[in-house]
Order: sequence, then C-alpha cells, then structure tokens
Amino acid sequence: MQKRLFIPGPTHVRDEILKQMSMSMIGHRSSEFSGIFSETVSKLKRLMYTSNRVFISSSSGTGLMESAVRNCISKRCLNLVCGHFSGEWHNIAILNGKPADSYSIEWGDGFTADSVRERLESGNYDSLCLTHNETSTGVMNPIYEIAEVVRNFPEVLFMVDAVSSLGGVKLEVDKLGIDVCLTSSQKCLAVPPGISVCSVSEKALERSKSIPNRGYYFDFQVFLKYYEKQQTISTPPISQINALSKQLDHIFEEGLENRFQRHSRMAEYIRKWALSNFEIFPKEGFWSDTLTVINNSRGISFAELNKKLGERGMTISNGYGKLKEKTFRIAHMGDLQMDDMKELVDNLDDIIGL
Ligand code: PLP
Repeated sequence: MQKRLFIPGPTHVRDEILKQMSMSMIGHRSSEFSGIFSETVSKLKRLMYTSNRVFISSSSGTGLMESAVRNCISKRCLNLVCGHFSGEWHNIAILNGKPADSYSIEWGDGFTADSVRERLESGNYDSLCLTHNETSTGVMNPIYEIAEVVRNFPEVLFMVDAVSSLGGVKLEVDKLGIDVCLTSSQKCLAVPPGISVCSVSEKALERSKSIPNRGYYFDFQVFLKYYEKQQTISTPPISQINALSKQLDHIFEEGLENRFQRHSRMAEYIRKWALSNFEIFPKEGFWSDTLTVINNSRGISFAELNKKLGERGMTISNGYGKLKEKTFRIAHMGDLQMDDMKELVDNLDDIIGL
C-alpha cells in the first residue's frame, strides 16, 4: 500500500511532479536544457531571497556540504554541533583535512547568538557552519539572531545547511548575509531525492580561488564556469531539474508567505497534540516549524505504532540515532496540509487509545 509520508524526507511528492519526471530526454548541452536551467535558477533565487548565484548539484545535500567545506575553509572552521546532521559538518571538515573545531552542545538544545559571538571573538576562525534545522532533534536554531552576530565578523564565511527548512520557513539569504546556503530536493521542496542546490556569495567565490585542492566535481570555480553557460559540470538529472522547476511554480502559486504560514500552523497543531499527550524533546524556544520530535513518554512500541499506522496508509519516523525508541518524529513539511495532520492525529489517537 502506498503510504502518506510524515517523515522528515523524502516527503510526499504530488502526482503532477511525478508526471513531470517522466519527460522525454533532451541533451544537457542543448539550448532547451539551458532554458530549463536558467529558469530554475531564477526561481531558486526568488525562493532564497538572493541575488547570489545558485548552483545545482547532481548529488544529495551532503555533497554540497562537502563542496562548501572544500571551497570555503582556509584558516579554521567552527562547526556548531547540536545533533547528528550538524555533527556531519565537523566530520566532513576533518575528513577533508580542514582545520576545524566543533562547538558541541546537548542534543535538544540550540545555539544562542551570544555563545556564537563569544567563540568568533577568539579570532581563530574564517568560517562557520550552522545547521538551521537539526532533523535528529527537532531544533530550529535562531538563524536571524546568529546571522546578526556573524555579520560583525567579515572574515568569517557563513555556511548554512537548510536541508530540512528551506522552502518551509523564510530564509532571506541576502538579508542574513549567508555565504553558502544549501538544501536538498526531497524535504520542504517536495521533489524526489537526488539533487541539491546552494547559493554562493561573491565572497565565498573569491575565497575559493585561493584554496588549493578543491577537487573537481564540487569545485565552486568549475560550478561557476558551467553556470555561466547555463549548464552543469556533467550530465545532470534533467528530469529532476525539470520537476523542481515545475514545483517552484506551484510554490509561488501557493505564495511564499502562505507556504511558511501553513508550515507554522501545522507545527503548532502537532505541538499542541504532543504537549497534551507526551512531551516535546527539544528545549522550548528552539521548536522547529518543519518537524516535531516527541518524547516517547508513554513507552509505546514505535514499531507496533508505525505498523498500525502503515495499515492505515501513513508513516512517521522513529527517533534518530541515540534517540531511537526514546523519541519519535512527525514531519510537517513540504506539501502536506492541515487536513493531513488532522487525519494523522485522529489515527494516532485511535491507535494509542488517547
Ligand atoms: N542536513 C540535514 C539537516 C538533514 O536532515 C539531512 C538529511 O536528512 C542532510 C543534511 C543530508 O541531506 P542529504 O540526504 O540530501 O544528503
């Protein structure tokens, strides 16, 4: 049975977009492809509130995290770690031989602007990595406040993983001064997995030129060379880029503000349900608008619960890593609607006996 996905990616993809994926192939060096490419890029700029270039990568978001690390870190990077995915920034930096420190806090906690300022004031860093929405813990970091601090350190390149937030929450890249902002197709954008996109500032492109051993596939300078021809480095997933373009039209038809409000209303609804029946895992003040991580305070068997939900055509996620069984996760992102959330809650109530 096909299941409605209430998991934090991949998210439900509308039939219209699935159909768009079955287009006839065109050459990736053709003018027809360049047309699709440049239209998609301008729509992405609008989505990201940026005039920076937006690169499209034939990889999932992790590839672009590696790209950001390889192109932007010269002196030393500070990685803000508050869960699994933010920890990946640090792992990727270390595995690429980059000088980096991890500033780690408890899972469930988020970063304050003051604590980031204190560390940047050391003068040790020329780059900072933040995960806007930590999908393992349900923490959404206060990016507007953090960005205000980072702007006082012009030598620091600000790299943001917005994989589970962009397209569901307002992120004004230029206003925030984000140098590299990346996301994947399969979360709030509600397109099948396999491609990712990132905005790259002039400052980041300049820095990249001076950094040795940037590799090839993820080198910003190679991205740039092809971007200027409205092409990609190598054969891209053409059907997926085409589907993304179509989905962006749908997003603008809904209206960006409406889309963000819908995410926020769905989040409030799920939080209210969680608070009256369980507890919310992350610290208050850091609750995410795209997914809610809930303490399994009733000791429910997650496998049993999800099996029964599955029989009713829906699925949610277990806790991530060390939070497995202790928490469970309900995503309210992408094209899900309030009615979907209500139906999910009615079914959860019925199965759990609430
Ligand atoms: N960052 C966050 C916050 C994520 O949630 C994920 C995936 O779930 C990733 C990075 C990795 O993205 P991808 O699977 O597209 O490589």
